[in-house]
Amino acid sequence: MNIGFISLGCAKNRVDTEIMMALVQKSQHKLVNDLEKAELVIINTCGFINDAKEEAIDHIISTGHLKEQGKLRYIIAAGCLAQRYGRELMDEMPELDGVIGVSAYHGIIDVIDQIAEGKTPALIEPAPAEFIEKGERVLSTPPGYAYLKITEGCNNRCSYCAIPMIRGQLRSNPEPEILKEVESLAKKGIKELVILGQDTAVYGQDLGVSNGLPSLLKQINRIGGIEWIRLMYLHPAHINQEVIETIAADNKILPYMDIPVQHASTSVLKRMNRGHDFDSLYSLLNKLKTEIKDLVLRTTVMTGFPGETERDFTELTDFVTSIRFDWLGCFAYSAEDDTAAALMPDQIPDEVKQARMEQILKIQKKITREKNIRRLERTLPILITGQKSKNLYTGRGYFQAPEVDGITIVKTPQKLVKGEFAKVTLKGIRLYDMIGELAKEES
Ligand code: SF4
Repeated sequence: MNIGFISLGCAKNRVDTEIMMALVQKSQHKLVNDLEKAELVIINTCGFINDAKEEAIDHIISTGHLKEQGKLRYIIAAGCLAQRYGRELMDEMPELDGVIGVSAYHGIIDVIDQIAEGKTPALIEPAPAEFIEKGERVLSTPPGYAYLKITEGCNNRCSYCAIPMIRGQLRSNPEPEILKEVESLAKKGIKELVILGQDTAVYGQDLGVSNGLPSLLKQINRIGGIEWIRLMYLHPAHINQEVIETIAADNKILPYMDIPVQHASTSVLKRMNRGHDFDSLYSLLNKLKTEIKDLVLRTTVMTGFPGETERDFTELTDFVTSIRFDWLGCFAYSAEDDTAAALMPDQIPDEVKQARMEQILKIQKKITREKNIRRLERTLPILITGQKSKNLYTGRGYFQAPEVDGITIVKTPQKLVKGEFAKVTLKGIRLYDMIGELAKEES
């Protein structure tokens, strides 16, 4: 059967999709890029917040139209939404022929075969004790970079988050396995690794390894071919001195950190069960800026957490204004089933959450622009990842993570190679993006 994929949600989900794609490719079925050619589509869903759930449901419904038109025979829902609601999801959505949970996707071929036999399987398994989210992958990212998932699950219990219920306890991929994967990615020409996990700072804790992340980073740093190592999702309460020194050292680990802080008000952070408060956050971020040269900071914050007062919100806006993150994502709190925060009093009206979110984004937009203005006339290596037209390429500098930050647009009549670096002088700004020209010595 011809099988197509739609991957929704975060980059961690994308890694799972890439593993399923490789399983399909190795089977008697055929992997197709064009959904119009697919007989069966697997939608890897996200169930993190309401918006993500709605997006997944919209995709299931719109893909269902292809079925009605006779262009497609079957649809499977995989991922977080499938794990969370299982057969119930299938009962509610007649478009679906099967569901497969996040801990069972190695069984995807079996699920496809059962569907071909006319069955309606729901393969949902509890989270495993070990890291099983590995295996060959069909890379779906543009040339030059790949995601590297080092952990799955999470031992934190942030009161708003359903991820530990869906993905289970923290489990780390042992270092030798990761290094093997990195070597194979390097052989495929990957230059940039984007390191993922729900909380990458605690890598190895479940394996009894202390300071697992710095040790892993130092090993990856030795692997030839890899030139950029980028760290995402570092929980602020788990960043220690060794992590800081490892990033600050002269090596391939980029001075780029994605640290989701979620809020700044101590009383909100306490109710979120984040394990950090305003003072520790403030001193950590200032320490990082002092100790890591040219550091680029990304964060995520949430508005409208239950009980967030005007004063709490002002603390958050003051914090964002004072820390001046390079990049910031903001989302409005969404009450998730079975989480502690969903039962908290003083839930905030949607319009207030939304207005606060817009206010934060407005503040940040100005900061990001100012930060980009300060980058003008700098000459930096840009990883070329795409081409828009004959003389127009797209790529990213070390200060731009894929998919979440801006990009760099490079104008040049010279032919650039996708997946390779070019030295670019930054000359202009367009919204969140930079515009650059090939540096003099290269042109
Ligand atoms: S750190 Fe908190 S927000 Fe992140 S996955 Fe774990 S419980 Fe959820």
